[in-house]
Amino acid sequence: MTNELAQAVDIAEHVLRDSCVDLIDTPIYIATATEHPGLLSWLGGFGGCFGATMDLALREKLEAAGEWAGRGFATIVNDDVIRTTYPAGDFLAAFVAVCTHELCHWLTSEKWWSTRRRKPSMSDATGLLQFYTATHRLDDSPTEHEASGKPKWTGHDAQFHRASCHLRERLPEPRFRIMFATMFGGTPYGLSSPYRYLRALESELVDRRGEPIRDILDSEPPAAFTTLWAADTGQGIE
Ligand SMILES: [Zn+2]
Repeated sequence: MTNELAQAVDIAEHVLRDSCVDLIDTPIYIATATEHPGLLSWLGGFGGCFGATMDLALREKLEAAGEWAGRGFATIVNDDVIRTTYPAGDFLAAFVAVCTHELCHWLTSEKWWSTRRRKPSMSDATGLLQFYTATHRLDDSPTEHEASGKPKWTGHDAQFHRASCHLRERLPEPRFRIMFATMFGGTPYGLSSPYRYLRALESELVDRRGEPIRDILDSEPPAAFTTLWAADTGQGIE
């Protein structure tokens, strides 16, 4: 691993831990495509990949490296795609942004996992990896969704965007916050600007800043947020 990549992994881990109280006592595993070249073909053009049991999928590799510390949040970041998509000076911010995006999937993952019809064996690490990279492709491509008649935001529901807004407000540096809004909200998913979602949640973002994000997601969102989501999608919030 290059110094730049090792530094990006290290900084991303610190940013996530400092920003998300939900991760207290939870191991963070950030794997990269460069580190695991065999994963590249599965990841395709995506910047990152997440699954509710991605940690188990990586467990054998982590144990071999002496890095396994129990169940936790795990993601695979496609650093090659980030390097070719963003200017060199934005590599770190984009790397962190991908990790925060995948963390929002983790924060909302219990429902995601419970709604999967196909589930691989929990003990088959290779099968789990293939499962995740395959399903992530389906869950995370706005253009593929559009082509198949689904909403572009499929896989990124209201709670995902609510978690995104909370996490963004807790990120330590402006450059991370700007990148976050650029990458996650609005246009790619056929929704309103991310700033409209931030405004709709404004009081909650300030008042509940110290709370675990999962606890916030369990509560009723502000009416302005529900109204905005309904206006964008024609749907209520589950
Ligand atoms: Zn996603």
